[in-house]
Amino acid sequence: MTCVICESHDREISCVGQFWVRQCKECGIYGMPRDLVEHLEATDQRLNTERTKAFLLSRTQNQQPPWITLEDAEHHFLMEQA
Ligand SMILES: [Zn+2]
Repeated sequence: MTCVICESHDREISCVGQFWVRQCKECGIYGMPRDLVEHLEATDQRLNTERTKAFLLSRTQNQQPPWITLEDAEHHFLMEQA
């Protein structure tokens, strides 16, 4: 599959209900709800690779799981036009 963040090859760790956890060799393990993925597709946007990786790093440094919600993506301006 294609990494949602950097578009390199990644693999799905799990998909429980509406939440995806994926692993990318560039981005590490990250999780996001399906509504974020659908929002990106519906609005023809993508996640900014550098800002999203920095956001994930800041979360793990704060002992938080590397999850990105739609609210996070909006709040931290992680999305950009594809
Ligand atoms: Zn990636």
